[in-house]
Amino acid sequence: MKYISTRGEAPPVPFLETLLAGLAPDGGLYLPQAYPQISQETIAGFAGKPYADVAEAIIAPFLTEEIETQALREMIAAVYKNFRHPAVVPLTQLDSNLFVLELFHGPTLAFKDLAMQLLAKLIDHVLAARCERATIIGATSGDTGAAAIEAFAGLPHVDVFILYPHGRVSDVQRRQMTTVEAQNIHTIALEGTFDDAQACVKTMFNHKALRDELNLCGVNSINFARILFQTVYYFTSAAVLGGPHRKISFAVPTGNFGDIFAGWMAKHMGLPIDRLVIATNSNDILTRTLASGQHRMQTVQPTQSPSMDIQVSSNFERLLFESYGRDASTVRRLMAGLRQSQGFSIEPGPLKTIRAEFDAFSVTEAETKQEIAQSWQEARYLTDPHTAVGISAARRTRPNASASPLVVLGTAHPGKFPDAIARATGIRPDLPGHLAGLSKRKERFTILPNNQNEIERFIRARATRAAKRAAS
Ligand SMILES: *Cc1c(COP(=O)(O)O)cnc(C)c1O
Repeated sequence: MKYISTRGEAPPVPFLETLLAGLAPDGGLYLPQAYPQISQETIAGFAGKPYADVAEAIIAPFLTEEIETQALREMIAAVYKNFRHPAVVPLTQLDSNLFVLELFHGPTLAFKDLAMQLLAKLIDHVLAARCERATIIGATSGDTGAAAIEAFAGLPHVDVFILYPHGRVSDVQRRQMTTVEAQNIHTIALEGTFDDAQACVKTMFNHKALRDELNLCGVNSINFARILFQTVYYFTSAAVLGGPHRKISFAVPTGNFGDIFAGWMAKHMGLPIDRLVIATNSNDILTRTLASGQHRMQTVQPTQSPSMDIQVSSNFERLLFESYGRDASTVRRLMAGLRQSQGFSIEPGPLKTIRAEFDAFSVTEAETKQEIAQSWQEARYLTDPHTAVGISAARRTRPNASASPLVVLGTAHPGKFPDAIARATGIRPDLPGHLAGLSKRKERFTILPNNQNEIERFIRARATRAAKRAAS
């Protein structure tokens, strides 16, 4: 299997190149030349199977001949064994035909662990085999950084630099990033927004000399492997609820469009999915785009669901590419428009294609709080604000949705956002045992201005020092 760039100006590459690079050299995002198909019989057989077995069945066709089956199986088994729930991703029923798929039983309590833990194992495996070192640079609105730091801490072949927007992540999120002691972890508090941090990382990846010098490796949600690993739970949950014999709908709290694009991919690999519901907070660029065909950036509003406080929704480029019949030159034109004039419009044909599969709702701060209260009052279910955005959007699709079961992706553990939950319910959820005491651990981070040169200088100096240490 080869992987192509959405911008069409990079050569097709094998899976392992997409794994290590993240972003394609032409600035585009990688997608497989074709989506492997999972048969209806295979999907039916997923019911009752361990998560790791399903993961192997789905992931293996994307990297055949590049990773040995046995090695892949062992990595997958080792990763998902560390989740705190035996089902890895349990389903909870909230209402008739309304379910929450709990994706937060990994070490950092957000869905990002599901992909990041396996990504780290795989990257370390490949670097070890090649006797190489790599530098991981990532921007985070909170949860990606924590997941990456937890997954890569102490791995011998990588240095990790995580940029987060200073003062714009929750206390728990920040502490999860800043209290890890491993020497290969470097946390940068950027004086700017998440979009500034993401732009800074993108610039570094487009800077070829720096990219080569540090052997840069991108683990943000644009990394194709992460999206692939996230398709697995669409299959497992659908199988539990009677798929493939019935169609299932999914509502996904959305920021960078990675998690919901995984749902789109699952559908195009053969999983019968009815609707894919994009749930955004008041940073509603995607909701506006679906309603009007106009993709226009606005300024970022801080909300109680900070992991979705995004205007540049990077993975949307993948859907554009697909909706335009894989026309890379159009994607290049649209992305240039986004860069130069903060927006573009989608033509009627592709817009119709998108609307045929997706709905989109944006949920205000007041509605989020109201949903946290309602889930508690009606179902005795404590939900974090991101998941609440998804539940609220899901409830809104009900009047005009068919009777298919609707699964909301539960993207974070309530204990991660205790203030928002206390405001809505009067109850302050606890962190699970392994994170108790987080507030007492010593923090370590560097505050840097939103200045490209200064950030690059910092990373270069630290990475060089680490490489020397490793070589001596
Ligand atoms: C990252 C994140 C999201 C958004 O996921 P995307 O793949 O960026 O759309 C939603 N909720 C939580 C808790 C997250 O950490």
